[in-house]
Amino acid sequence: MSQQFDLIAIGGGSGGLAVAEKAAQLGKRAAIIERAKLGGTCVNLGCVPKKIMWYAAHLASACAEAPDYGIQVHPGGFDWAKLVAGRNRYVAAINAYWDGYLERLGIAHLKGMGRFVDAHTLAVDGTHYTAEHIVIATGSRPIVPPLPGAELGITSDGFFALEEQPRRVAIIGGGYIGVELAGVLRALGSEVTVVALEDRLLWLFDPLISQVLAENMRASGIEIHLEFEVAALERDSQGLALVARNGQRLADFDQVIWAVGRVPNSAELNLAAAGVEVAPNGLIPTDPYQNTPVPGIYAIGDVAGREPLTPVAIAAGRRLAERLFNNKPELRLDYENIPTVVFTHPPVGKIGLTEEQARERYGETLTVYETQFTPMRYALSTHGFKTAMKLICAGPEERVVGIHLIGDGVDEMLQGFAVAVKMGASKFDLDNTIAIHPCSAEELVTLKEPVRRS
Ligand SMILES: Cc1cc2nc3c(=O)[nH]c(=O)nc-3n(C[C@H](O)[C@H](O)[C@H](O)COP(=O)(O)OP(=O)(O)OC[C@H]3O[C@@H](n4cnc5c(N)ncnc54)[C@H](O)[C@@H]3O)c2cc1C
Repeated sequence: MSQQFDLIAIGGGSGGLAVAEKAAQLGKRAAIIERAKLGGTCVNLGCVPKKIMWYAAHLASACAEAPDYGIQVHPGGFDWAKLVAGRNRYVAAINAYWDGYLERLGIAHLKGMGRFVDAHTLAVDGTHYTAEHIVIATGSRPIVPPLPGAELGITSDGFFALEEQPRRVAIIGGGYIGVELAGVLRALGSEVTVVALEDRLLWLFDPLISQVLAENMRASGIEIHLEFEVAALERDSQGLALVARNGQRLADFDQVIWAVGRVPNSAELNLAAAGVEVAPNGLIPTDPYQNTPVPGIYAIGDVAGREPLTPVAIAAGRRLAERLFNNKPELRLDYENIPTVVFTHPPVGKIGLTEEQARERYGETLTVYETQFTPMRYALSTHGFKTAMKLICAGPEERVVGIHLIGDGVDEMLQGFAVAVKMGASKFDLDNTIAIHPCSAEELVTLKEPVRRS
């Protein structure tokens, strides 16, 4: 095999696969260095296995509601092992797909750890490979803070390795991974406690979402402790315990899951040999075109920071390859208005600015529309999760600059509205669109009076 390439991607995850695929499609010799399974975090330890678990949880919730609609469900117990086996088969099929696809495209798959030897040379298991363009797409991994007993907890990686369903679980972290895992475990029958350092869940989202999410989670039976700073984990005869900085103790868990953020995989790359500097938090700084300051070395995806999402890593990778090899020197990813969904029960979706961010940018020209309701899905149910929607508009033309949603179906609803926002839609455009009835989405095109903020 030739050891010289036009492009080498370090990391066979969302970003690395995308940039190498596009380079190969443009006729370039491309290689991917991957130390684990192809597909990266998304396929193996993130979006894909998470969404399978979410579907299972969704079905379990539907079964719980079915009798209200006259449908008798005869529960035979829930089989965690069967679910996990099916999920693993699905993931393995995606790994196999990528193996075959790389071969068909003629992309070299170099198995092992990649480390820089110099700015154009990488070593993998003692063999050197060179390329004019090297793309760092090494992703990130979960953080376990250096606290006493921290090793007693697992991370999201450990969650996907669980062979048995935990009975009582504590999740440390109120970010998106923490609340997603909490929702899945609760809907599947575990007792779940979430603790968070901040004074609200999903603190990077609009406060309306945090508030309604907490209400929905509590309604489902999840216990939430905010402003809870974990100082240590302990094991006693009853199981695992969380000890807070203020002495508070939550005990009797059989699993504790750390969901306190992720750190970029940059430390093992020997970046100094290539002259690439790393930020103190491990991120690799890049300009808007994904260039590091060293010519011919780029960083994309989680290791470059910005929005750590699979479609973002893919889009950055594809645009980079087009820029380098398809005579499109100005092509780059626009990081404004990236839609995102949190797969809670029910899910959360957002695009654009929170109300606070919009106020900072647009001041008093802002109009905000809001609604909260229990969707018709729960018409016959004795309980029901709340839906909330916020639309933030700027300027006299009321251009939509933020949409924040929580409720059944918002995960599928958001993508179309994201197209409208990206195209510069105004409140008038939404109002001018005939509603689809009856569904939750129609509320977004029939919002009437703006909210008055005193
Ligand atoms: C629990 C969880 C749920 C998520 N859910 C979603 C979701 O629903 N939607 C969404 O958009 N995003 C989701 N994400 C985020 C998404 O998975 C990441 O943003 C995405 O995978 C980043 O892609 P990447 O290419 O930057 O890195 P990765 O996909 O992480 O790929 C990096 C690859 O590089 C390899 N690697 C690292 N260092 C080296 C080295 N030195 N040599 C060789 N190989 C190396 C790693 O083994 C890995 O395979 C989720 C993440 C987690 C953890």
